[in-house]
Amino acid sequence: MIRQLIYLINIIFLPLIGQSQIIPEITARVDTTETSVKEVYTCFKGYINSKPDSLYENPFWNKNESYTLVENGMNCNRSVWTMFRGFNNSTDFYDVYHPKILSIERIEINRFLLRVIYNNCTEGYEKHNPVYITRLYAVKNKDGEFKLENTLEYDTRNWRKIRYKFITYFVSPTSHFDKQKAREGIKFCQKAAKKFNIKKIQPFIFYITNDSEEMGRLFNFEYWLSYSTGITNVPTREIFSAFGVASYPHEFVHMILSPLITNYENTNMLINEGVATWCAGPTLDETYDSALESFSNEIRDNDTLTIDDILTSKYRNKYDNNPLYLIGAVICSMVYEKKGIEDVIKILNLTLNELRRELPIIMQKESWKQVNSEIFEYIRNYNSH
Ligand SMILES: [Zn+2]
Repeated sequence: MIRQLIYLINIIFLPLIGQSQIIPEITARVDTTETSVKEVYTCFKGYINSKPDSLYENPFWNKNESYTLVENGMNCNRSVWTMFRGFNNSTDFYDVYHPKILSIERIEINRFLLRVIYNNCTEGYEKHNPVYITRLYAVKNKDGEFKLENTLEYDTRNWRKIRYKFITYFVSPTSHFDKQKAREGIKFCQKAAKKFNIKKIQPFIFYITNDSEEMGRLFNFEYWLSYSTGITNVPTREIFSAFGVASYPHEFVHMILSPLITNYENTNMLINEGVATWCAGPTLDETYDSALESFSNEIRDNDTLTIDDILTSKYRNKYDNNPLYLIGAVICSMVYEKKGIEDVIKILNLTLNELRRELPIIMQKESWKQVNSEIFEYIRNYNSH
């Protein structure tokens, strides 16, 4: 009986003595005396205080959407896929980036658009602000309750939808669908699959947007300081491109090779990005050869550089990840030359520590240090002509 009583007391008091609630600020434009606006505000407040970082069906989110995404191992809120990175949890994130609601606007009878700005409140970071402006929908369900929704489905409902072989293209109104480019993309995928002995390419979706802002909106970002121009999300079988063209070989490689990766938790970014860069260049507008040649010129006189300097970002480019991607690509190309495709697949499935141990053996070197020397020597002497 006593134990039960303690349990009850815990249930009643724990939430009160636990962490304090995060109260989102509002701008003068948000009129919470209006009933629906107040309800949307309450829904958002409930959401950010209900473990938005956790992989579960958040009670403040659209049920169908959260069910499907969580089933696929993804958080129900697409912006969370990138926002909380580098933080232990959402509470730590909101401590630094306090949410401020810019506007709650009705866009349809039961649909509201909620825009929230996130500024880094740490002293000295002011010049980076804002870091994000997110946009979410709050939609009233049949029980009269507001639930949050990602913008992707509603915003792409009128986009041109084309199916060709194993790709379903969603083409934004500002992008042009070029059949020839689509054919080239399909051919590239088939060639990549053949190279890696993959028998059948599983279908996937390809969102073609015209710039990174338009692409960001599909991830609920109206503005993202650290933006992206290509994203592949294997669990939902989606590729996003900001280049407005019907082909994106680098991202295709990530998708095509996904069945070869046995455990994504264990894999390493160096070889994952390396293999895509080796097959298709670091991004859509740069080939492997030309990127490697520039990198070769860049480091020709630097004889102290190590792979670890690049892995730890001690050496990096300001606006791209080319050094990391190209080191990975060179490793893949050398392993392929020495051992063949099976060993490239093998290193794709290693953790970084395992790679440090295995790579010298695969490359017939005595140590990781010797692997370093061989790779940098190859890059410094690289000339595509
Ligand atoms: Zn990539």
